[in-house]
Amino acid sequence: MGGLGSGRRFSHRGYVDANLAIDIRIWKRKGILLSGSIFTWRWLVNDEEQAQIRVLVEDGHVVLSYRTRINFGEWHTVELTVTLTYSPCNYGGERIWFSCPVCCRRAAKLFCHGKYFICRKCTGQLYESQSEWGLHRLYRKGRRLSLKLGVNSYRAVSYPVKPKGMHLKTYKYISNEAEDNFMSIVIEEDKIIDDLQLNLK
Ligand SMILES: [Zn+2]
Repeated sequence: MGGLGSGRRFSHRGYVDANLAIDIRIWKRKGILLSGSIFTWRWLVNDEEQAQIRVLVEDGHVVLSYRTRINFGEWHTVELTVTLTYSPCNYGGERIWFSCPVCCRRAAKLFCHGKYFICRKCTGQLYESQSEWGLHRLYRKGRRLSLKLGVNSYRAVSYPVKPKGMHLKTYKYISNEAEDNFMSIVIEEDKIIDDLQLNLK
């Protein structure tokens, strides 16, 4: 089963945004969406595997299996069922979509957010509801720290090589701070998603 440890799962060699995504169009194009089949989906950065999930294809849905953990904590196994929906194409045939596990809207792409894969609109809603949930402080801190490291992101998890002229000690200190902050973000976001009791099966 694939590992998808939240945070500290990425190498320090490259900048990786926390937003791992799956795209149904790519799976369709690759011809791997055959009912009954199982495949492993991997994310690579510089040819190095960063994360992987196992995907079981069944009639009308896929089951995503992966292990996730926060900050070297215990691993948790997640099995997330994502319904597939279809819409007719103008020129015959049909298009396939994920149904977002949170809001049930159709989506071609789902983004890994904490323990779950959710659509872009839901990630946007998390961002918008940040002040309501006290997340804005963490997002702001994330942005401030990542800017120091030359990246403009409010939830980046890993950072590029040390900015020129910065002491190694400072760089390590800031990137550790930023990673810890990212952990807190993931924990808070997971809570929000759990609280919203979104149609997770
Ligand atoms: Zn959604």
